Amino acid sequence: MKAYLNEALYSSRRSAIREFTALAGTVPGCIKLTLGEPDFDTPEPVREAAKAALDNHETHYIPNQGIPELRRAIADFENHSYGMDFQPEEILVTVGATEALFIAFFGILNPGDEVIIPAPAFVLYEEIVKLCRAVPVLLDTSKDGFQLSRETLEQAMTPRTKAILLNSPNNPTGCVYTRESLDNVHELVKDKPVFILCDDVYRQLVYTEDYHSFMEYRDLRKQLLLIQSFSKPYAMTGWRMGYLAADREVMERLELIHQFSVVSTPAPFQKACMEALSWDPSEMRETYRKRRDYVCGRLKAMGLSYVKPQGAFYVFPSVKELGLDSAELARRLIREAKVAVTPGFCFGAEGFIRISCGASMEDLEEGLSRMERWIRNRKETMSHD
Ligand code: PMP
Repeated sequence: MKAYLNEALYSSRRSAIREFTALAGTVPGCIKLTLGEPDFDTPEPVREAAKAALDNHETHYIPNQGIPELRRAIADFENHSYGMDFQPEEILVTVGATEALFIAFFGILNPGDEVIIPAPAFVLYEEIVKLCRAVPVLLDTSKDGFQLSRETLEQAMTPRTKAILLNSPNNPTGCVYTRESLDNVHELVKDKPVFILCDDVYRQLVYTEDYHSFMEYRDLRKQLLLIQSFSKPYAMTGWRMGYLAADREVMERLELIHQFSVVSTPAPFQKACMEALSWDPSEMRETYRKRRDYVCGRLKAMGLSYVKPQGAFYVFPSVKELGLDSAELARRLIREAKVAVTPGFCFGAEGFIRISCGASMEDLEEGLSRMERWIRNRKETMSHD
């Protein structure tokens, strides 16, 4: 049987994040700090816009790339808010950032091409690259405070490097790349045919004034691909809406993958996404900021070290001193303390755990208290050994 399927599927891994969440589900009363999902509901005006579209019979085929009004609204949003210079035909409305990532990788990679992925990283990148018969090159950034040093980048670059994936703010660390990190990338790729994929899905959840995306390096316009999502800033994970933005010539080709697989995203959601773009997510952002500050304070009191997140809704402390690998630690926390976190190995970073501030403040308070008690016991046991 094995031989009949696409070989690439046999080296694919299922997301361990869902596995650990499922394990937590088997322990009654376990608090889940695992999922990268806002605990908010989609804002009412966005929901109303979808209902109105349905009542208005907007239920037919639409243009492949999305309705022109939405693509215009996305281009305006990118151009006014983030200093871009996109035209509507350079925008493709996708099934979440996930489809945008798939199209971006599938559209640029040939078998054997290499993609540099700074780790810790969202697990999907590596898996999609492998499905494309290309080679993920994971770059360990933990020793550089999750930033991109010139030396590490240089070591990872080869004549086969086709693309670099940048995710800022980062899942799972919450780190935002400094201007220096981005300049290092620019210096290295500016005269090479290397694509830069900017997964900026947490861009609207940033807690620093000093945020820059690599998309700002407009001299490399033809090599830049922007991956965006409605999921995180507008609490729309279940709608599965996102977009890809790229230079016209690149988009003309990449759009075909969407045409041949998805045709278009759902018609009634087009207007809802237009409504979302005019929604101000600052209230949610402030809530996540407060949760981040709370979580960081509690971790500090437990004696765990971390790089303070500047965006997204995760904190990624080091747990090396607890003497267990991250999967074993996460399993024991679920079984013995009834609190679930995501082990760092899921993101290519052993010795860390990810705590999601997408959980409510109540769950964070109780979950962290359980964790604190367990860690205290663990340290006592270790000191007696
Ligand atoms: N990129 C990153 C960094 C993410 O964390 C996620 C979702 N967890 C995605 C992309 C996919 O988002 P979407 O729901 O839009 O497919």
